[in-house]
Amino acid sequence: MQCAPLVASTMATTTNDIDDLTEECDECDRQTLHTISVKILTESRQAENAQYSREPYRISECQVCGDIEQTRMNNA
Ligand SMILES: [Zn+2]
Repeated sequence: MQCAPLVASTMATTTNDIDDLTEECDECDRQTLHTISVKILTESRQAENAQYSREPYRISECQVCGDIEQTRMNNA
C-alpha cells in the first residue's frame, strides 16, 4: 500500500517498493518497461484441510500493453 501524496506537482516518478525494469514481454514480443512489485498471495494447498499458505509473488506489469505476470518467488 502506498499513500498518494496530496501535493501533486512532482512527476510521477515516486517509487516506494516498486521498481521499473525493462523486461521481455510475451504480449509485446519485445523488451518493454515493467512495473515490478511484490504481493503476498494466499493459496490453498489442501482444500480439505483448509490449510492456506501465503506465498510472495513477484508482479510484473507491462507498461505498454498492461499484461500482468505473476511469478511465485518460492521455487521450492
Ligand atoms: Zn507488453
